[in-house]
This record gives sequence, C-alpha cells and structure tokens, in this order.
Amino acid sequence: MSLKRETLLVQTGNDRKEPLGAINTPIYLSAPYRHQNIGLSNGYDYIRTGNPTRDVLERSIAELEKGNRGFACSSGMSAIQLVFSLFTSEDHIIAVRDLYGGSYRMFEWFSTNYHLQFSFWNQEHESIHPLIQSNTKALFIETPTNPLMKETDIRALAEIAKVNGLLLIVDNTFYTPLIQRPIEWGADIVIHSATKYLGGHNDLLAGLVVSGDEELSTKLFEIHNTCGAVLGPFDSWLLIRGMKTLALRMGQHEENARKIHSYLIQHPLATTVHYPGKGGMVSFEIANESWVSPFLSALKIFTFAESLGGVESLITYPATQTHDDIPEETRKSYGLSSRLLRISVGIEHVDDLISDLEQAFNQLEKDRLAPSTKERGGGQVESVR
Ligand SMILES: *Cc1c(COP(=O)(O)O)cnc(C)c1O
Repeated sequence: MSLKRETLLVQTGNDRKEPLGAINTPIYLSAPYRHQNIGLSNGYDYIRTGNPTRDVLERSIAELEKGNRGFACSSGMSAIQLVFSLFTSEDHIIAVRDLYGGSYRMFEWFSTNYHLQFSFWNQEHESIHPLIQSNTKALFIETPTNPLMKETDIRALAEIAKVNGLLLIVDNTFYTPLIQRPIEWGADIVIHSATKYLGGHNDLLAGLVVSGDEELSTKLFEIHNTCGAVLGPFDSWLLIRGMKTLALRMGQHEENARKIHSYLIQHPLATTVHYPGKGGMVSFEIANESWVSPFLSALKIFTFAESLGGVESLITYPATQTHDDIPEETRKSYGLSSRLLRISVGIEHVDDLISDLEQAFNQLEKDRLAPSTKERGGGQVESVR
C-alpha cells in the first residue's frame, strides 16, 4: 500500500514490531551494543555508526523524499559539509548566486582552505552552460532561493547535470518534501536544515541528507560514520515529533503566507514583495532603508530573530543577519538590498499577523517617519535607495 505523505509523517516510528507496543519511537541512549560473539551483531555496534532512534528518522526522510537513504546530521551546515566531503581539491562546483549566507561562508572557506573552486550562477540573468568547466563536479541550488524566493526548474537543471556528468544537489529547506521532491525530478542529493520546517518548533538544531542512489549512499555513509557529525538520539526523537505535524503546519503556513502576500502587495510602504505562491516565506522591501529599524521595533507579534519554519512568526533582516557574510556589493549586485525584510509566516491567526504589520506601518506614519496616506495621496511610495 502506497501511503500519502500526511500518513507517513504522522505514523513515523509507530512500529508494529516494537516488542512492547510503544507507539512513540523509544529514545535509545546506549552508545555501544553487545555482540553475542565475533561476527555476530544485531545490526547495531556503536552510536556514531547507527542508532535505532536516528534510524527511524533517516528512513522516514528517505521515504518522504523518495530517495535511497537518509542521513541525520548535527545541523544543516554539517549536512552540507557531509555532502561536500564527496569532493576533493580542484573540483569545481556551481552554486546559485542567491544563497543562504551560511552556505556562502562555508563555500568561501572550502575555497580558501581546501581549494574547491566555486562559480556563482545568477539564474535570472545568465545561462549556466558557460560556467561548466572540465573539472566541474556538481550544481548546488536552493529553490526557492533565500531570501529573494526565486524558483529554479529542477527538471531542466537535472537534465543539464546528467548530460555533463554533474551531481545536482538541492537544499530543500524552504519547501520540504511536501511541496517539492527534487530526487523525483532527477536531483542526486537533497539537503535540509531540519532546524526549520521539518522540526518546526524553533527548539532544535538538525540537518538531513538524502541520497538518490546506492552508490552515493555508500560514500555518504562512510563519510558520515568517519567524520561523525551525526544527530544524537534525543534530538532525533524531537525532530521525529516535530515532523509528525508537518503537513498540518505547512498548510497553515502557506495559507497565512498567501494572505500576507496579498496584504503586502497593496501596501504603499512595501515596494517589492517576493512570494513564489507556495510555502510560508515572504520577503519584501520597505520603501526607505531608515524605516527598517523603527518598523522592526514597532512589531508586537512578529519576532525579530534569525531563523524560519517554526510555528512562531519571525522577521529577519538579511543584510545584518542571515546574509551578513556576503559582501554588500555582491549582495546588491543580485538584488538583495538593505531594504529587504524576510518573513517566516507562522501558524498564528492570520488576522492578528496582518494587524501587527498594519500597526507597525501606521507607527511609521504616526512618528512622521513615513509620509501619511493624505500627503502621499494613497499611492505607492517611491523607493529610496
Ligand atoms: C538555516 C539554513 C541552513 C543551515 O542550517 P542550520 O541547521 O542552521 O545549520 C542551510 N540552508 C538553508 C536554506 C537554511 O535556511
């Protein structure tokens, strides 16, 4: 029986063969496992190599992403590091230009210390073909991108990757397997910062990797076990608990995000709004950079904080937070301005969220920072750079 994702998520860890009938995955804390004799193992030897609680999580994400095998890591960054350990010095990787700042920082470090080579692809303005070199080994993308929310056609890119013998690696943090399953469309590896939507409660740090085939699984298993940035049993359990409600949460995130998008596009003080029509992330430019700070301090429900995907609504200022490691000139060259705010829409009642934005915009007018509706005649305020 092929089950729907909602069912798979909820039933994670409810194992009918569990000896005591536990519905909830037990947390196995034992580091070593007893062997009956030489060469006799019940499948577990040592906690870094394998752990029953972590296994439940790894099988679950592999099934959800329709991949071959899952790997649970201590953070999203360690998941990316695990995957990049497949490469050696002088290998060349093409990554999307609009990228999570932490990934950009890691790539800079790989390039300085390990001589991996990177090219950054501005997918809106240039073809990827001229960037492909004889030593190119992989394409690394986020879709939608962070924070400008640009989508990339995974199927088309998978075709290019296949023709050129490249691995296609997709960071699927923003959409989760509920909205998009890159491996089904030809990607080789999927990465998640499970700290975000999969965990969903702003209470956990975790990363996941899913490999598309047996050969990659074997290599990744070796590195995962050798380097050891694995997820501990407690956190594996916490992540499983979070994932059970992913479908419900994602539905609400998306419904709220659509309404917030509709609200923002008609608001005169928001000049550009980015929302791909799916998921719970919306970003927008406020008309004047000097309004960013008073706007953030006027918000009462949205928390000014640096993460996403949790039940609580957060607002981030990429220029000084998530993307602070990207030089200002570089950021501006691809449209990430210092007027951009990124919203992770939570699952609160959307009316309250919109009222919160509304009162914060109104506060700008009350404090005479922004022109009042009367002065500007109700029209869009021209952006000030
Ligand atoms: C947060 C994030 C990461 C890094 O994950 P951590 O769990 O914070 O280590 C990687 N990619 C994207 C898209 C992210 O949002």
